Amino acid sequence: MSKQERSSIDERTLERVVDFHGHLCPGLAMGVHAAQIARREIGPHSPDEEVVAVVETDMCAVDAIQFLTGCTFGKGNLVHRDYGKNAYTFFRRSDGRAVRVVGRPDAWQRDPEHQALFAKIREGTASDVERARFRELHQSQSRALLSLDPDELFSVAEVDGPPPPMARIHASVPCAQCGEGVMETRVRRLGGRELCQPCFDAAMADT
Ligand SMILES: [Zn+2]
Ligand SMILES: [Zn+2]
Repeated sequence: MSKQERSSIDERTLERVVDFHGHLCPGLAMGVHAAQIARREIGPHSPDEEVVAVVETDMCAVDAIQFLTGCTFGKGNLVHRDYGKNAYTFFRRSDGRAVRVVGRPDAWQRDPEHQALFAKIREGTASDVERARFRELHQSQSRALLSLDPDELFSVAEVDGPPPPMARIHASVPCAQCGEGVMETRVRRLGGRELCQPCFDAAMADT
C-alpha cells in the first residue's frame, strides 16, 4: 500500500463520517486517522464483535472510530476507559493480535488563533465576525489534519494480553423504588431493597 492510499479516506466516506458525528472538526480528523491505522493493522470494519476497541477518551475522535471500525458502544465492542488520552487499543479476537495507537504529543500544533476564538465562543463573548472566522479555521485545521499521514500523528505498538470479555446479556430486575427495569449487574442493594443507581443515590442523599 502506498503512503497516499493509507493516508486518505475517500470524500464520500468522509461525508458519511461527518454526517454521523454532526460536523467536521480536528478531533474527528484524529479519529479518522486512528481508525485507518486500526483497519490496516487489525482488519476491516467489524460487523460483529470480532474486533474490540478500548478508547481512552470520549471526545469527537471516538465517533470516527465507531463509524469506520465497527467497534460501537451498543455492540459492546467499544470500551471507554476515562483517561483523557488520545489513545486507542484494538484487539482482534481470532488470533489475539492487538495494537495500541497513541497520539504523538508534538505531532500536531493547535493554531493559537483557533484556540483563542474557541475560548471566546465558550465564554459567549465572540462577535459574529469572530464566529465566522472560527468556523473557517475549524474547517481548515480539520482539512490540514486529514491531509497528514496517520503515522505522523500516531505511534503504533503491539500489545500483549487478552481483549476485554465479550458483551453479555443480563437479566433485568425492577427497581424497588421507581419500578424501572435495571440490568442485574447494576442493581444496588440498600436495606434489603434492590435499587437502580439514581434511586440508590437519592436514598443515600436523604440519609
Ligand atoms: Zn467534533
Ligand atoms: Zn429506581
